Amino acid sequence: MRLAKAIAKHNRLYHAEDAPEITDQEYDALVKRNAELEAAFPHLVRSDSPSQDVGHAVAASPLSKVTHAVRMMSLDNAFSAEEVHEWVARVRRFLALHEKAPLGFTAEDKIDGLSCSLRYENGALVRAATRGDGQVGEDVTANVAHVADIPQQLAGSVPDVFEVRGEIYMAKEDFAALNAAQQKGGGKLFANPRNAAAGSLRQKDASVTAARPLKFWAHGWGAASEVPGATQEEVVRRIEEWGLPVSPQFRRVDDAEGLLAHYETIAAARPDLPYEIDGVVYKVDRLDYQQRLGAVGKAPRWALAHKFPAERAETTLESIDIQVGRTGKLTPVGRLAPVLVGGVTVTNVTLHNRDEIARLGVRPGDRVVVQRAGDVIPQVVENLTREEKRPPYRFPDHCPECGSEAVAAEGEVDVRCTGGLICPAQRTERLKHFVSRGALDIDGLGEKTIDQFFALGWLESPADIFRLKQRRADILALEGWKDKSVENLLASIEARRAPDAARLLFGLGIRHVGAVTARDLMKHFHELPALRKAAEKARAGDGDAAAELTAIDGIGSAVVEALGDFFHEEHNRDVWDDILSEVSPPRYEVETKDSAVAGKTVVFTGKLETMSRDEAKAQAERLGAKASGSVSAKTDLVVAGPGAGSKIKKAAELGIETIDEAAWAAIVNSAG
Ligand code: ZN
Repeated sequence: MRLAKAIAKHNRLYHAEDAPEITDQEYDALVKRNAELEAAFPHLVRSDSPSQDVGHAVAASPLSKVTHAVRMMSLDNAFSAEEVHEWVARVRRFLALHEKAPLGFTAEDKIDGLSCSLRYENGALVRAATRGDGQVGEDVTANVAHVADIPQQLAGSVPDVFEVRGEIYMAKEDFAALNAAQQKGGGKLFANPRNAAAGSLRQKDASVTAARPLKFWAHGWGAASEVPGATQEEVVRRIEEWGLPVSPQFRRVDDAEGLLAHYETIAAARPDLPYEIDGVVYKVDRLDYQQRLGAVGKAPRWALAHKFPAERAETTLESIDIQVGRTGKLTPVGRLAPVLVGGVTVTNVTLHNRDEIARLGVRPGDRVVVQRAGDVIPQVVENLTREEKRPPYRFPDHCPECGSEAVAAEGEVDVRCTGGLICPAQRTERLKHFVSRGALDIDGLGEKTIDQFFALGWLESPADIFRLKQRRADILALEGWKDKSVENLLASIEARRAPDAARLLFGLGIRHVGAVTARDLMKHFHELPALRKAAEKARAGDGDAAAELTAIDGIGSAVVEALGDFFHEEHNRDVWDDILSEVSPPRYEVETKDSAVAGKTVVFTGKLETMSRDEAKAQAERLGAKASGSVSAKTDLVVAGPGAGSKIKKAAELGIETIDEAAWAAIVNSAG
């Protein structure tokens, strides 16, 4: 399900990388849509569905991992009073409560922070951990020692074991001061207080955390040897007595009306609160009820987050600027007449892509409604003057950075610069790709060296790499370079004067031409000039040339189109000629190893446990076999892992030999 994948991606950006790309409200809408689909089609719920997941798995991080004794839950969301009433009615039904039976709740503002679990043993803080994926978080014990709100020792009589749960956050004022200081010092700017809090806490070096003004408040608990109270309110008040802050807006109310009244009070106070909040959290007050209600998937039935609507304002779209990303993607950015949205002055909005501009029908000069939620990049949600008779905005068909043609591949919304190697916005990235392991694999020419040489004007194009030997004295004059290291660098460059043609082709970074595609192409054409000729002919409308290309196994029309676009650019042809004046790839021939499967067609199916699908295919290729995606009469061998289904059945019907992964490994090993 594409939706689940999108949610997973944004989840990762938000939780693991502290770099959200969409607003919290957009994210919530995605999750809600997913939940609706799953409710309608329960058989389609995937094991990796976001409904089965809380937050994101802990990213590769220098911090060590902590398994939570009691899972850290997340909350279901509501966006309207109606949904709140529905939730209360559901709770009543579940508990089989009479309509008049009392049912109390707690309500408190939902701070936009980083969830954290603090484990106290005999009143002493022994471990602090982030939420992570809800089951495994990161150990931030050393870091929270620098959060003044978190006592190392609790006051009064405390259960033997008690895990306090709450939010680490940064106040609005402290956030603004931190970003101002970061800007001055050339450091990274944080998108919002939540990201600033997360980035400040999740530091290997706790002294960084110490320099950041983090705060904490408690709103619940995890593992506990004893729960000191019969209601949510009683326990929260006990936690407060022990010396941990709780929300000043925490209240107990009697019914749904009470919840909604408190929501309105908090919403009205929101602009003046010293911290960012994004809603109000409701919980069933009685703990025996909470116990009975339990949880569905990741979320308890006894709690609900009532989110605030996004904040909006009206302004004029003054111009549309095009930014070119590292991969050549053209991103339109709207420049606005400055406008205050939810207390923040907004001057830029993302317009995403060409289709989004067309959908909104926006042109410079239009009056637009801008929305900002969760403090991420604001966006245009409505065009108030689209009916006015003015010509539509014309999305550029040339790159503003280098003047090359900019095109969208068929079926794609993103417009990309075809300048590739000559586009300054893309050049260093392309150079790094050119020398990377899968491409020319030049040792000693790392990313930093490329950035440095590029800044010095020594690497205008990939061919310049082969002219670096003329700069031996210049390189030696740079800090950190010695005779020996310059020698090594130049030697590893010289070692690539006769590169593998497929690697060279892959290194050019032509869209859709990955390592495997490059090999497929070269197996057929053997020489780079022959490939270029066919691609240029196909682009010029020669049906035979196009047919020759698409007849190659693994080559589709997207590749043919991308090749045509590449060679259509004069700049690219110059770069190509320049490279081929420096290097001479030998005729490309696939050396067929003497193996049991040479010349055969192999299909991999099911879950492979010791290697990725890509690695398996590469192994097959090295053994002179062809890896195919589907079982047919042409298949010679099927390698099946656990969970393989219809393909095994089909293989059996066709009488094709089927082996497991271990048997495949034996074939690979015997071929050396
Ligand atoms: Zn460009």
